[in-house]
Parts: sequence; structure tokens; C-alpha cells
Amino acid sequence: MASPTVTADRAIAFHRPSLTSEERAAVLEVLDSGWLTTGSRTLAFEEAVAATAGTRHAVAVNSATAALHLALEALGVGTGDEVVVPTYTFAACGEVVRYLDARPRLADVDARTMNLTAASLEAALRPTTRAVIVVHFGGLMATMEPIVELAATRGVAVIEDAAHALPASRAGRSAGSIGDVGAFSFYATKTVTTGEGGMLVTDSDAVADRARVTRLHGISRDAWKRYTSAGNWYYEIEDVGFKYNLTDLAAAIGLVQLRRGEAMRQERQRVALRYAAQLADSLDAEIELPVMPDPDTVHAWHLFPVRLREGGADRRAGVIEELRRAGIGTSVHFIPLHLHPYYRRTYGHRPGDFPVAEAQYEREISLPIYPDLTDAEVDRVVEALGAALRRPGPTS
Ligand SMILES: *Cc1c(COP(=O)(O)O)cnc(C)c1O
Repeated sequence: MASPTVTADRAIAFHRPSLTSEERAAVLEVLDSGWLTTGSRTLAFEEAVAATAGTRHAVAVNSATAALHLALEALGVGTGDEVVVPTYTFAACGEVVRYLDARPRLADVDARTMNLTAASLEAALRPTTRAVIVVHFGGLMATMEPIVELAATRGVAVIEDAAHALPASRAGRSAGSIGDVGAFSFYATKTVTTGEGGMLVTDSDAVADRARVTRLHGISRDAWKRYTSAGNWYYEIEDVGFKYNLTDLAAAIGLVQLRRGEAMRQERQRVALRYAAQLADSLDAEIELPVMPDPDTVHAWHLFPVRLREGGADRRAGVIEELRRAGIGTSVHFIPLHLHPYYRRTYGHRPGDFPVAEAQYEREISLPIYPDLTDAEVDRVVEALGAALRRPGPTS
């Protein structure tokens, strides 16, 4: 059936980055300085992220995937080891375990938050488990205390995938600072962006020292300085490392974004509260809202994940298509890892293995949420969602 065409200026993208003249000026300053790659801006960005997260160290890298990889490597994960990974996550969490020839042991999640729980971690623990990766889904922190306690009794290291959670905190403790290591992402769609980028944060001197070597070819610390006036031509290759360093171009953007981080979070919170009020008002029978944070919790609101109630799995594709026709971009977070061909083929996973994650995934739609999304645009999304739900389904 023909729908009226949506003009481009009426379209509501799933994501738009929030960039100002300050980011632009910061990039131009780096271009004019003649020093483009890792340097003074990167060092300043590391200090700023460490201060925000409340950790002793921050090691800048070119993605959160790199940060997770270096974290596991620094913690000594290797062949024959297992790392517990929630199935409800992005590809990165499983693949970094495979980089080290270890096994990602998948675990189910909580039905309300889609976060890992201590109970699901416990069920996934094996004698060879060396670490667990905890994802703060959508920017709402997982309940860390029982996870950290259980991990400590079993000698399991805790890595926080805080790719959605900058800034986020609970009881004054920031995401990324509670486990042994945290990883932030500055990918284009994340809450603080540098286009591509990431940061490893930790209180451990040993992990930070190791990551500073492995992120740049395994050559001795601060090797990038060798082309500065403070530097020296001499360096030593201490081990086989990776090419994971962050550029000063990216770090300069990151410094501005981080400074704006809390103000941008408050704008996303405005969007989230407006969605929540309107959806509860008009579509409560059809739409399950994401969990709202307790008063002691700062929610990063990277995502606004709703779930369709009755018959949601059958209707989702049709609803997404209707929204697309209305010019509204959406996404789905996440297709559980165990449903992907690689995990089925390699570990024999199949549908039904992690029923909670599957039941959420099948009904989930992520709505647009970003600082520049206006109240009027939020209202249009809610209206279009209502219209899509009123159409007879399933449409696919
Ligand atoms: C985006 C994302 C990553 C990877 O971040 P990159 O910086 O793109 O490597 C890891 N985990 C989760 C949960 C993510 O959403």
C-alpha cells in the first residue's frame, strides 16, 4: 500500500551525533599543530576520562573492542581459558575472547534490564573461567556488588563493558570503575564520540602498564614520544603488540565531548522521560518501557529500548517497517550472540538456549534518543508508533 513520502527534513534519524563549533575548533587546532597522532591531546583525554570515571589509570585506544582485548590480554586470559559473556550484547564481547584462543561462555540476562546477573554468572562458571565481561545495557548499570563478590570468591576477574555508560553511576560509583577493568567506546553513535575510539580504565598498575605497551606494537612505554623533541630514537620491542593507539585528532574531539558529557546526558534524560510519560499514557497496553533508574542511579540513556507486549515477536518487523515509512529510524539491540551462525557452528548453540534474552530480543525496538532530538520529534515518534501498532499485524 502506498504511503505518503516523508520529506528528508521531516525524517527522524535513529541517531545524530551532537557536535558544536567547539569540536570543530579543537580539530582545527590539532591540524594546525602539525602533530596528528598520539600526543598531548591524547594524554589530556586520558587524564580527563580517568577523572570522570574515578580510576587511577586510563589508556586511550582506537576502539572499545581494542580496550576489551587488551584488558583480557593483560589479565592473562589465553588458550583453554573461559570468559563469561552475556549473550545479549554486541559482537565485540565474544570476538575479543576468541582473539586470545579462549572460549566465550555465554550467559542469560535479567528480563527487565537485559543485564547480566550474579545468578546467571554463577550458572556459567567453570573451573577454567578466568574473567567475566559485564555489559551495562543501554546505559543502565548492572547490579555490580553481587557479581563482584561472586567473582572474587572464584578468582574471576571482572571487566565492565561500559560502551553505553558514559556518564553513568550508582551510589556515586562510576561505570567502568567497579570491576578490575572498564572499557568505554567513542564510536560514532555512542554517548561521547570521537568518530572511532575507546578507553581502558583501571586502578591496576600492572594492567595499565601492560596495556600501554600492547596498544602500540609492544614497544617500550611512550614510544610515540620518539618523534618529539622530548623523545629519543631508541626503543625496544618487548612483546608482540597491536596497532591500537588513538590519534590526537580523535582525542581533541573527545575532550570537548567529555566536557559536554553530562549536559548531553541530561538532554537524553529529557527525551527518555518524555517517551516514558507519553508511552505510559497512550500505549501502556502494547508497549513495555525500559526500567527507570532509582534515585541513586545516573542512567546514561544511550538507548531507549521498548518491547512490544502481546504478539510482539510476530509484529515487530511490521512495526519497524511502518516507522521507516513514516521516516523514523529505529534499531534492534541486540541479536543475542548464540543465535548467530558463528556461535551456532562453533559451540552448538541454538534457539532456546537462553530463553530470557531471546524473549526480550524478539520484541525489542530501540527508539531514537540523542541530545538534539526535540520534544516535538519525540511526540511524532510516539504518534507514529501508535499508528503502526493500530495497523493489523503481522505485516511480514
Ligand atoms: C559499541 C559497542 C562495543 C564496541 O565499541 P567499539 O568502540 O566500536 O569497538 C562493545 N560493546 C558494546 C556493548 C557496544 O555497544
